Amino acid sequence: MLYKRSSQLFKEAQNYIPGGVNSPVRAFSAVGGTPIFMKEAKGAYLYDEDGRKYIDYINSWGPQILGHAYPPVIEAVIDKTKKGTSFGAPTEIETQIAELAVNMVPNIDQIRMVNSGTEACMSAVRLARGYTSRDKIIKFAGCYHGHSDSFLIQAGSGAVTFGTPNSPGVTKGTAKDTLLATYNDLSSVENLLNANKEEVACVIIEPVAGNMGCIPPTREFLQGLKDLCAKHDTLLIFDEVMTGFRLALGGAQEAYEVDADIVTFGKVIGGGLPVGAFAARKEIMDYLAPNGPVYQAGTLSGNPLAMAAGLAMLSALHQDPGVYQRLSEKTTYLRRGIAEVLEQQNVTYQLNQKGSMMSLHFTDTPVTDFASAVKGNNESFKKYFHGMLAEGVYLPPSAFETWFITDALTYQDIDKTIEATAKVAKTL
Ligand code: PMP
Repeated sequence: MLYKRSSQLFKEAQNYIPGGVNSPVRAFSAVGGTPIFMKEAKGAYLYDEDGRKYIDYINSWGPQILGHAYPPVIEAVIDKTKKGTSFGAPTEIETQIAELAVNMVPNIDQIRMVNSGTEACMSAVRLARGYTSRDKIIKFAGCYHGHSDSFLIQAGSGAVTFGTPNSPGVTKGTAKDTLLATYNDLSSVENLLNANKEEVACVIIEPVAGNMGCIPPTREFLQGLKDLCAKHDTLLIFDEVMTGFRLALGGAQEAYEVDADIVTFGKVIGGGLPVGAFAARKEIMDYLAPNGPVYQAGTLSGNPLAMAAGLAMLSALHQDPGVYQRLSEKTTYLRRGIAEVLEQQNVTYQLNQKGSMMSLHFTDTPVTDFASAVKGNNESFKKYFHGMLAEGVYLPPSAFETWFITDALTYQDIDKTIEATAKVAKTL
């Protein structure tokens, strides 16, 4: 049995942890089978509890952009740990990472650290509401901004898999303030803004959607959003939890040359430790406590270990901006290779890519929004996923997730992945 020890561990975990996992997508519910319990990771590879090795295309859902156990991050964390793990008081390293992030990302003056992407997006929306004195927000069907109440309305990612895009527990009062638009469809946003004049605090969007698979926006769509928001005095929030420090040093704002009013971060900014952040120009950030009236706080926010990991990661990227070209080239090579072998087997597919984010849907129509993403054939996806897993390739266990490519990946690894796809495609 391939995954004997993982099966045992999953069984034990289910006794004490709901569903055996601390985050639902890890349970493999969309694809069935036993979640793989990991033991360690290095570079582009994961090693499981049964002693199997995998080429990793999840990379902790994004942070391991330079590979697992990246030495400068590990060393920085070990070094910091020896000096104490948390003080609940300010430290110099918080300013160092803030200064670096502000220099890397266009159009922001100040940044506040939190502990997760959820917190970052939740706080950004509160700030937008406080700043505009308005209650409503617009989000896009299929976008995921964490599990805060306002966002669990037609949410993507695990919320789709579990059939709970509108989760019980979210009150009707909260739900009514979240208005839903269609990704890549400007008129859907315009209609909502016109129908709710002077009521919409913000439009929040994944500037490249990653939670219904990878769906890039058109540049006109993003620019149009910016213009519509400006016209209605509504703030535009780019949720760059996936795209931040991944698509470019300055994230999607830089990649698409469109400025947002508030930007949220997660993943890469923590170098694999629990960090999120949100940022804006000073005039908006001044609304936050202690300077302003919008309250937001965190005992472990700006935690020294997390800041050390994040600073080491951002510094490494800052010193090697060529990394984005390499990542993009590797991902393009992978996408083309997979496309070629799927075509040879007459498999119906759509491959979407932006930079080092990519996804595969088994459908014959372009995937540009949530409705087109859900058309994908989940039976084919399941077979593909399990086939690849058996070949030693670890993909996201749902079509409603993005593959994250790491710079630690070699062209040999990519060729192996393409060969594995050629083999598995015969079974689809
Ligand atoms: N926003 C986006 C775009 C995300 O992809 C995620 C998580 N994948 C979040 C927010 C929430 O981040 P976290 O899981 O760290 O709370």
